[in-house]
Amino acid sequence: WPLRCASSFKAADLTVERCPALKPKPDPASLLFGKQFTDHMLTVNWSEKGGWQAPQIKPFQNLSLHPAASALHYSIELFEGMKAFRGADNRIRLFRPMLNMERMHRSAERSCLPDFDKVELLECIKKLIEVDREWVPYSTDASLYIRPTFIGTEPSLGVARAGHALIFVIVGPVGPYFTTGAFNPVSLLADPSYVRAWRGGVGSYKMGGNYGPTIAVQQEAIRQGCQQVLWLYGDQEEITEVGTMNLFIYWTTKSGEKELVTPPLDGIILPGVTRQSLLDLAREWGEFRVTERTIAMKELLDALADGRVLEVFGAGTACVVCPVGSLLYQGKCVCVRMCVIYKFDRSLKSLKL
Ligand code: PMP
Repeated sequence: WPLRCASSFKAADLTVERCPALKPKPDPASLLFGKQFTDHMLTVNWSEKGGWQAPQIKPFQNLSLHPAASALHYSIELFEGMKAFRGADNRIRLFRPMLNMERMHRSAERSCLPDFDKVELLECIKKLIEVDREWVPYSTDASLYIRPTFIGTEPSLGVARAGHALIFVIVGPVGPYFTTGAFNPVSLLADPSYVRAWRGGVGSYKMGGNYGPTIAVQQEAIRQGCQQVLWLYGDQEEITEVGTMNLFIYWTTKSGEKELVTPPLDGIILPGVTRQSLLDLAREWGEFRVTERTIAMKELLDALADGRVLEVFGAGTACVVCPVGSLLYQGKCVCVRMCVIYKFDRSLKSLKL
């Protein structure tokens, strides 16, 4: 899928229209994920005929879309999720943002949306954060969540590549994922009758269409007394992801070696920035084997029965690391121990602050 229209918008052309009346900033202790937004947003319009227009920072406002816009009918939509942190030195830092820009670029290519320059988009996002810098919480527990979004705005119903498109970026302060400040282990429903993504599909891209259909399954997990879904795949019931997080297992192998294992990037899981960061950290520590390979549910159940599982956890931007406390599989609840993820969490936090 070659990207269309080789030219890109430029951060140097950015115009800024400031909001005349700024909203009061919320108390960092009261923040809920994704409910509050800052005073400004970034938009960049594209059309087949006119190419990219100059990027604009403007007061946060509703979008006006044609009712036939392709994003609304055929899910020509993709997004990113990343964070900016205010450090103890009061400097604002983005966490590995080029990895998000690269993933966004890959998603755009797969969606037949137009090409853009990752560095230019990142420069525009940095400018937006600068304009709204007072919204980056003065707290080491909270951060500014950044949601770059790319949609097809083609005003016609044919199932075809969009001739109009829009990149927009909205940002908002978010609190600590665990309101108690401590880790709350989650319970998972592991039911192989539900599938999140499949080989040859688009599970490795961050497209809105991958997420809407998971909500009913998440509701089913809650109905069965679990908090999240453990997504399994195929005849081997491969373990893939947990909710919207990548999955890690820290265990003792049958041969007695300590190992951190996570599913490989084989097209059915999202290549998480947190996943990559944990693998980088663990390899740097060199304290245990680090492996990316397919894991069958049976292997995990056997290891749990043998008492070889030290830890199971999810990893993602929203919660950083999230311990798994139990699994509900074929009507049986299996408990998981916890011990080392505190080290991963603290190390990632110290990288960010
Ligand atoms: N898997 C899925 C399906 C996700 O939506 C996310 C969140 N982007 C992740 C994994 C974790 O990715 P990241 O570490 O980049 O947030």
